[in-house]
Amino acid sequence: AKRMGKSNYQFYHDSMHSKIQGNIELESLLRKAIKRNEFSLFYQPQIGTKSNQIYGAEALIRWNSHELGMISPAEFIPLAEESGLIVPIGEWVIREACQQVKNWQCANLPLFPVSVNLSIRQFYQSDLIPMIRKIIEETGIEPHYLELEITETMAMEAESATIILQELKNTGVKIAMDDFGTGYSSLNYLKKFPIDHLKIDQSFVKDISYDKDDKDIVSTIIVLAHNLNMLTIAEGVETAEHVAFLKEHKCDVLQGYHFSKPLPPQEFESWLKNWVKSENE
Ligand code: C2E
Ligand code: CA
Ligand code: CA
Ligand code: CA
Repeated sequence: AKRMGKSNYQFYHDSMHSKIQGNIELESLLRKAIKRNEFSLFYQPQIGTKSNQIYGAEALIRWNSHELGMISPAEFIPLAEESGLIVPIGEWVIREACQQVKNWQCANLPLFPVSVNLSIRQFYQSDLIPMIRKIIEETGIEPHYLELEITETMAMEAESATIILQELKNTGVKIAMDDFGTGYSSLNYLKKFPIDHLKIDQSFVKDISYDKDDKDIVSTIIVLAHNLNMLTIAEGVETAEHVAFLKEHKCDVLQGYHFSKPLPPQEFESWLKNWVKSENE
């Protein structure tokens, strides 16, 4: 039946030749996805360069639609943002991540924070702070085990950004600046924002083994971040050469396929147990 549904959709899509029609269909499926339990979070480890131990994990949403199969967040997050559905979906993500932190803490794993991606709609949603406070309270985690990832462009959008960030900091959660270097930002603001981590975008990391410009950009971002009392997390770390360069330039944390792709919770746990074991050998 599932397969039938899929090909029906395809047929519908092709015959209509309408992206809008397809989006309406997608949106109505997206609307039902929370209730139908079709979302899940995958987790990607972040490794500290000094200790070689787990430093944190990023939670990344996955949608396994009954009708359409697996759909990438790159496809449905923009639609969720346009339609406003990102607000309830985003709340689900935060609650699920906090619940997972709690579960892992009860399961005798090493403790580490989990970061979640915030979209601009959520960042400027009026009840963001009470919503986060409530989830932290209900799940019973310490707030510093939750990190929120925002982008430069998001933080540059409004005067109120500094206040929102400060209020978030006051709740005790951590803040990361995602995709750093790809948006528009002002260094003046960067200094004022209470940011814990700068995440160096994977587009800069990709060619650091041989591209002189990228080498300079990445090493400069690391120095800049350290001067502003922030730690750096490199994204898209795929090779041993990437690791060597980033360690040499004192990048603090590494994340990417070289260590692991994002994994469902159980696989993440196994990965972590293995990692801890091989580090102690
Ligand atoms: P992002 O926040 O920049 O997340 C990093 C993306 O890079 C993830 O893609 C991850 O799977 C991928 N990645 C990790 N390591 C490597 C690597 O070594 N090489 C390469 N080439 N890619 C790597 P994913 O999971 O498909 O997510 C795509 C984007 O969707 C995310 O980019 C983020 O902007 C958005 N997203 C994902 N989950 C959520 C969510 O819960 N809420 C919101 N608002 N956005 C989300
Ligand atoms: Ca992210
Ligand atoms: Ca990113
Ligand atoms: Ca991104």
